Amino acid sequence: MNVSDTQEALIVAISAGAFGLILGSFLNVVAHRVPRGGVPWTPSRSHCPHCDAEIRPRDNVPIVSWLLLRGTCRNCGEPVSWRYPFFEALTAVLFAAVGAYDGLSPELLPDLLFVATLVTVTNTDIDLRIVPNKVLVVSFLAGVVAQVVARPDQWQNWTISAAVAFTAMFLVVLAYPRGMGMGDAKLAGVMGLYLGRAVAPALLLAFFIGTLVGLIVMARKGVAAGRKTAVPFVPFLAAGGIFGLFFGESVVSWYLETFAGN
Ligand SMILES: [Zn+2]
Repeated sequence: MNVSDTQEALIVAISAGAFGLILGSFLNVVAHRVPRGGVPWTPSRSHCPHCDAEIRPRDNVPIVSWLLLRGTCRNCGEPVSWRYPFFEALTAVLFAAVGAYDGLSPELLPDLLFVATLVTVTNTDIDLRIVPNKVLVVSFLAGVVAQVVARPDQWQNWTISAAVAFTAMFLVVLAYPRGMGMGDAKLAGVMGLYLGRAVAPALLLAFFIGTLVGLIVMARKGVAAGRKTAVPFVPFLAAGGIFGLFFGESVVSWYLETFAGN
């Protein structure tokens, strides 16, 4: 990487990070309203879910307002979820990382869309144990367009990977209905669309983390109670997806060179 490449990566990373901070705030609104049957753009101002007071612009600054108000509503003093500043910061950090990784390339578009999707469904899954169909459908359609623009020569890779990832996850859901649902299968399909064959290590990592967390829960609560505890699986899928985005292709290439001889 020469100096101008480094500079470009830095500028794209900072711009994408700033954009991610603002978009993260919007994705919080999407994650709050869409599963409750609303639309992201109406009403145009957010309201406190406790007292319904309109959130003033100065109280709606990403991360900063939440910290200044110590996680409470200015009007009623009721707590405002940690998810708001957390997902704003997470979106900013991940967007910056993708910006540094991709630079100003066509891949930037689908990769940022992918991160935005994972952040939103992780938020709704933690909040309500819901993966909204509307979010998945919008992401899927936008993803197809973005992949046609960015990776047209790999269309077989991302179409087959989407179908295989959905089918594999669907079979897992049929075999182990507890804790996983159709939302997880559909999300796996969307991950295949964005990641191509890198979705394989992404899903494997998700199952590895999921199993690890399941064992920790059983160790702390006892096996019987632990088995009954439903742990949301989407955060693990999302963690696997982020890993797949940055390292999945390297893992697949390494695997094929080592074990398949090509
Ligand atoms: Zn309030």
